[in-house]
This record gives sequence, C-alpha cells and structure tokens, in this order.
Amino acid sequence: MFSLNKMEPTMSLSTKYHGILDYKQALAPDIIHLGIRLVEPDHLDFTAGQYIRLDSQPYDQKPVVSRPFSLASAPQQKNRIELIIRRTAQGVCTPWIFDHLALGQDLTFSGPLGKFKLTSGNGPILMIAGGSGMSAIWSILQDMRARKIHRPTTCFFGARTRNDLYFTRPIAEFVQACPWFTFIPALSENADNQWQGQTGLVTDVVDRLVPEASSYEAYLCGAPGMINACKPVLLAKNIRPEHVFYDPFIEQKQDRVAP
Ligand SMILES: Cc1cc2nc3c(=O)[nH]c(=O)nc-3n(C[C@H](O)[C@H](O)[C@H](O)COP(=O)(O)OP(=O)(O)OC[C@H]3O[C@@H](n4cnc5c(N)ncnc54)[C@H](O)[C@@H]3O)c2cc1C
Repeated sequence: MFSLNKMEPTMSLSTKYHGILDYKQALAPDIIHLGIRLVEPDHLDFTAGQYIRLDSQPYDQKPVVSRPFSLASAPQQKNRIELIIRRTAQGVCTPWIFDHLALGQDLTFSGPLGKFKLTSGNGPILMIAGGSGMSAIWSILQDMRARKIHRPTTCFFGARTRNDLYFTRPIAEFVQACPWFTFIPALSENADNQWQGQTGLVTDVVDRLVPEASSYEAYLCGAPGMINACKPVLLAKNIRPEHVFYDPFIEQKQDRVAP
C-alpha cells in the first residue's frame, strides 16, 4: 500500500481574525477572487499552502457555517489575504459569498491551518491544479519567487473550457519573469480551433507529457476526484509516494462544525 502525503487539516491553535472585503471579482463563471484587508489582528503569518476557515453570515434562514479556503496570496503580504473560491451548488457559504457578501463588509475567519506546503528539497517540481485549486498553488509559486527558490517547476492547470481558465495574464507575466517555471493549461471540453494548448483531462495530459519522474516532487490541489485520478498516474512515472503532496478540497464529516 502506498503512503502518500495527504496534508491533514489541523483544527487547533488558530486565531480569529476580523477583516474587510476590499476586492471581489469574477474569474470564471463559477469562480470568484476575493481580497480581505485584515483589521484585528492586522496581520496574518502563514506558510504558502495553508488555508483559513471563513465564517458565513446569516441569510435566507441558512445556518452560519465556517468553511475552509486556501490562501491564494503570498505569505510575504501579511496585512491582506486573497482567496479563490468556487461556488458549490446547494452549498451554504459559497452562495453567500457569491450573492450576498459585498465590498466593504466585515468578515471573520480563523487560521492559519493545514500542513500543505513546499518542502525544503531542491529537486524538480510538478504542480497540478484543478479549478479553484490554483489558489494554494499560486500562493506557493509567489512564495518561491519571493524567496528566490528556483527549482524547475512545471504547473498543469486543468479547466473545462477557455472561460474557466483564469489568471492568464499574471501567469504569463510569471512565466516571463521566472525561467525556472513552465505553465501547461489543459482544457477538458470545448477546446475551439483557436486553442493551441493541451486538451483532455489534466490527468491524461500529465500522463502524456511527463517523462520518468523519480526525481520529482508533486503538489496537487483541487477536487478529490482529480487528485485520486492523478495519484496512480504519477506513481506509474516512478515518482516516490512520499514525494506526492496533496490537498483535496473536501473535509471529513467531523470537521464540518460551525464556529
Ligand atoms: C483544506 C481545504 C481547502 C480548501 N480550499 C478551497 C479553495 O481555496 N477554494 C474553493 O473553492 N474551495 C476550497 N475548499 C473546498 C470548500 O471548503 C468547500 O467547497 C466548501 O464546503 C463549500 O462550502 P459551502 O458551504 O458553499 O458548501 P457545503 O454546504 O459545504 O456543501 C454543499 C454540498 O456540496 C458537497 N461539497 C462540498 N465541497 C465539495 C467539494 N469540494 N467537492 C465536491 N462536493 C463538495 C458537500 O458534501 C455538500 O453535500 C477547500 C477544502 C478544504 C478541505
């Protein structure tokens, strides 16, 4: 039995933060980008890859809940955080974020939590992000750049259609500025004839393009289905099980408690 590195959520030792929403912008039809300026405490110390638990507020007689979202911003920026959030159909917190949360509104969250982070190794890196899973990956990438960690890194980003691909401009700028970084977006549906990039499920694209990978570390972030599909593909490339790190966007039932 392989033992891979699922980064277990940590529930203890988190602080409650108050902040103000200062940015809210759609990135894709069901993905939104938030900026939150911290008020009290006025800064958050975290490691790239960690997450917070954002508290919803009452609406439409829904319960108040607290849900985990990965930090998308660089840890060097301590007085403001960013999140990338996908709407969950039938959810409580994400419909509140999309439909009710307004610029200037006060928010509370707790954190930082989680152990998903870059190791201190120096080998090449594969990153695989699906949908809003680019959040933690983007934080790690910005942190690598800030700390001048120039490990050869290839990032695969899986999206359904061209409309679901986001951050294309900042990522293109990142590619220009960081010769150690390669970005491979893949569309699983509706790749029109102007699309010059990869097509198919991101898992299949990884399978097609990644050679023997025994010297690599892999960092996976996104829906559990994508992560489960990627693991055997990576292992078949001889990547060491202990070098596969992942953060599936799903909580254990016992973690799903209101604050
Ligand atoms: C460590 C961690 C980090 C995360 N980071 C992010 C992030 O950066 N961006 C982001 O968009 N999401 C992220 N998630 C997922 C996010 O926390 C959930 O999608 C959240 O439950 C949505 O809240 P909700 O109240 O809207 O929906 P809920 O009320 O929690 O869920 C409604 C229904 O959808 C199901 N469901 C919830 N989440 C998922 C899922 N991910 N996949 C499939 N079914 C699901 C539930 O079981 C339930 O049946 C993360 C999850 C974890 C555990």
